[in-house]
Amino acid sequence: KRLVIAIDGPSSSGKGTLAKELANVLRMQHLDTGKLYRVFAVKFPHKYSQARSHEEIRLNTEEEEEMLAALNNDDPGYYSEHVGRMASILARNSQVRSALLPIQRQFVLNAPQGAVVDGRDIASVVCPDADVKIFVSAYASVRARRRFRQLCGSNRKAMYKTVLFHLLHRDIRDTCRSSAPLVRTEDAIYLNNSHMQKAAALRELVEKIKT
Ligand code: C5P
Repeated sequence: KRLVIAIDGPSSSGKGTLAKELANVLRMQHLDTGKLYRVFAVKFPHKYSQARSHEEIRLNTEEEEEMLAALNNDDPGYYSEHVGRMASILARNSQVRSALLPIQRQFVLNAPQGAVVDGRDIASVVCPDADVKIFVSAYASVRARRRFRQLCGSNRKAMYKTVLFHLLHRDIRDTCRSSAPLVRTEDAIYLNNSHMQKAAALRELVEKIKT
């Protein structure tokens, strides 16, 4: 059966890694919608300025294809704190969200074996009819430590506090915004990923999906 799996959760909860591995195991396509917001922030910041002055945001087919192609570009620049922050600022804008919605829906429709889609509003907005909905979270301290290890700066103590501060700031921005905030839908499977090994978390999800 062709499945659509929606995975939502806050920054650095591990949802992206789980989504990617789940897609691998189940031989499905994976869509990282956070990356789509990041790509938009990098490639089309001028369109965001238009939206702020209440003009509708239009992306032509070429621009949409450029964005989809960039999803496969592993340039680490897309994953920087700066771009993440920019993405979360423009993700508050409902015109930006409306412009990115059809790209995400089209991706899911085009996935022959179905798709695993991860983000913040997948179960609530992008794929409300998903076959399986998962909400992945972890304690903020654990998420910040994960993020900190990825960045691994020289001034460790000060850096960890900064990372935690940015992460909490992003949590607030993503959960308190008016357009499509991060929510845990009632029908979602909840996974607390604070102390789980990746393999164990994956096994648990595969079992739940199969039942
Ligand atoms: O998941 P990631 O950190 O790459 O996402 C970057 C930002 O994009 C998030 O902080 C969030 O504000 C926004 N986003 C969103 N809706 C999604 C995915 C990401 O608003 N479905």
